[in-house]
Amino acid sequence: MSCIFCRIAAGEIPSQKVYEDERVFAFRDINPVAPVHILIVPKTHIPGADAVSSENSSLVARIFEVIPKIAATEGLSRGYRVVTNVGEDGGQTVMHLHFHLIGGRKLDIMA
Ligand code: 5GP
Ligand code: ZN
Repeated sequence: MSCIFCRIAAGEIPSQKVYEDERVFAFRDINPVAPVHILIVPKTHIPGADAVSSENSSLVARIFEVIPKIAATEGLSRGYRVVTNVGEDGGQTVMHLHFHLIGGRKLDIMA
């Protein structure tokens, strides 16, 4: 298994885990852009948001059920941002679907 996020979700590569269930894994970004910067991933490999389909979209729904729980645990009552980058122009560098949960400060307007 060569995908870095598959390996992190499987526990083969260490990470700062913040949440885990049967289908979803969440861990702190190694290069945080805000006081809270967490990546939420499906445990099964989906290359990116452009590969979401009726076959796998329940995983995305599950991730969006988990996000408010993590946000509450992290104390993000003032709000936060959820981002997924897609492809080269979108700035995606890891080809395993992941959602950035970013908060803990007032965020800039997005480009
Ligand atoms: P992307 O640019 O694909 O949207 O986001 C990839 C994110 O993964 C980046 O924010 C980067 O800092 C993070 N990242 C890359 N490799 C690792 C790693 O090995 N561990 C952790 N915790 N984060 C990583
Ligand atoms: Zn993967």
